[in-house]
Amino acid sequence: MGPQDQPDYVNAVMCVATKLPPIDLLHCLQRIENNHGRVRKAERWGARTLDLDMLIYDDQLINIPELIVPHPGLAERAFVLYPLFEIAPQLMIPGKGNIADLLAQCPMNELRRLD
Ligand code: ADP
Ligand code: MG
Repeated sequence: MGPQDQPDYVNAVMCVATKLPPIDLLHCLQRIENNHGRVRKAERWGARTLDLDMLIYDDQLINIPELIVPHPGLAERAFVLYPLFEIAPQLMIPGKGNIADLLAQCPMNELRRLD
């Protein structure tokens, strides 16, 4: 994503159970990012220490300035779809369809699975 001169990065997907409403969960993720020394710069998608994004939240569709769910780039990004498929191969992504169909449209390109 973004500038091509940035180093390789590691991406992972996890599933959590939470009682936090979506906006509180977002703030919680941002607190964790900040605790890992993340400084927000003007350039988007540049190298950063840690980036925690919310991909989906249950079957909700959210579209407010601070939070868009499902995450807007989800359906086109191999580094999101492939690890998401590993933990949830049956997943229906609200407004976008089932994950297996999305994956079939998305080549792996440079993506490499770490053992
Ligand atoms: P990105 O993750 O797009 O590379 P940032 O992590 O800097 O960029 O996030 C920029 C803004 O995106 C955040 O301040 C947050 O309010 C907003 N945002 C909108 N939708 C989401 C989402 N689903 N998950 C995380 N952040 C989101
Ligand atoms: Mg982010």
